Amino acid sequence: MRLLRLLPALLVAAVAATAAAQSPKAAPQAAPKAAPKAAPKSVPKTPAPVRPDVTIGLARDAHIAAAAADVSAPRIRATDSTLVSFGTRHTMSDTLSETRGIGAARRFLYNELRAYSRDCGGCLRVEYDGRDTQLTRFRDRPTARVVNVLAWLPGRDTTRVIVVSGHYDTCTCSTDPADAVSDAPGADDDGSGASAVVELARVVSKRYPKGLDATVVFAIVAAEEQGLLGATALARRLHDEKKTVVAAFTDDIIGNVVADDGRVDSTSVRIYAVDSVPSRSGELARYVWGVGAVYTPGLEVRPTFRLDRVGRGGDHAPFHRLGDPALRYTERLEDTKRQHLATDDLTGVNFGYVAAIARLNVATVVSLASAPAPVDSVFARRDRASGGQKWNITWKTAPGAARYEVLWRSTASPTWTAVYDAGTAASYLLDEQLDDGWAAVRAVSGDGHRSLTTVASTSGPPRAAGAGAPAPPPPPTP
Ligand SMILES: [Zn+2]
Repeated sequence: MRLLRLLPALLVAAVAATAAAQSPKAAPQAAPKAAPKAAPKSVPKTPAPVRPDVTIGLARDAHIAAAAADVSAPRIRATDSTLVSFGTRHTMSDTLSETRGIGAARRFLYNELRAYSRDCGGCLRVEYDGRDTQLTRFRDRPTARVVNVLAWLPGRDTTRVIVVSGHYDTCTCSTDPADAVSDAPGADDDGSGASAVVELARVVSKRYPKGLDATVVFAIVAAEEQGLLGATALARRLHDEKKTVVAAFTDDIIGNVVADDGRVDSTSVRIYAVDSVPSRSGELARYVWGVGAVYTPGLEVRPTFRLDRVGRGGDHAPFHRLGDPALRYTERLEDTKRQHLATDDLTGVNFGYVAAIARLNVATVVSLASAPAPVDSVFARRDRASGGQKWNITWKTAPGAARYEVLWRSTASPTWTAVYDAGTAASYLLDEQLDDGWAAVRAVSGDGHRSLTTVASTSGPPRAAGAGAPAPPPPPTP
């Protein structure tokens, strides 16, 4: 069995005190009266931080890289500019005008997506996904028509769906949450994310007009600002339709690069995903982290293992609450003095940065949608024959898997640090100690696409054939 050791790729920079600084020749005799200077050269360089190779063995697919490169910053800018031109996109704003309000905005989005579908031979199924929805936050206006605009790219498996969303509604919630008339441009929140998802739909449908293995739903959702109402309805609908949500992403506030204190960062993006162990969202975050390292090395992916920023929310949350792997992309530095105000205009959006995040989205969505389903029923049992030093990992074979990989990490490592090729079998004897870490299994397709990882359960032995109910876990021994 081949072992890809990832940790040895660590960059442990040698502590390099410069020889010149220590050499007697470095202290010139000719200037004895000069004030003694601080000797920065004699200070050892700070060693590079010890970081694991975060790629977790994901391989680069040239088609995906080409698709990601197709993302166009000018197109995203054009889409966002049109959204801003509707003045306000407040959930309770005008729905009849052709030039102002949320109705005009969603008709524009629908027509854009329909045009992409025409360009790919009808490959996208574009729909208004709407319903009258209770607005518990506004006594004067108990319900509103909340309408998501969806573009489906059916996969070979129509029961497995990957959702990537941005919200097109806006508000001036910082001054008056119920004001549905004044300008609320929402260029960054979330014109940036909504426009990026429109661009994803264009690129992925053009590059993969026959679809991928899983179905992809490009979702431009509404009423985020009234409590994630559009995304909540979509998540419930997918569950009611018995779809398996492979992953639910939201791109929300992805365009600002200058913080209100003047700090600038246009080269990193934050991803938020809960990682209580074992957590399917945490596995999704490690996957995105790896995809970023493989496909968009110029954009640093910064995982934060919590649902969202403190006191904030996003459209991945309803999916997470239903048990789906869910993740939010958001800019590294926010300017909260612009959010939910009339000042959230196009001057605060860096479209090169939005495009970089959109490229990461393309690589992630296509990688996941090209992969087999995650492996099910993964169990780990202590191997008695080795005196408990090894562990027996077993799982159920997954359709479409050409082989499997077993991954390992210490509990102290934020991502997987070893990948073992388990071949075609549905079991593996792992020479690592699960008292000290976690093991997971993933399926690999014939062309090398990896599924999400499934963490092995150590809490009970797998059901023996014909044994009825699974045996309860043995009582802990002190
Ligand atoms: Zn938002």
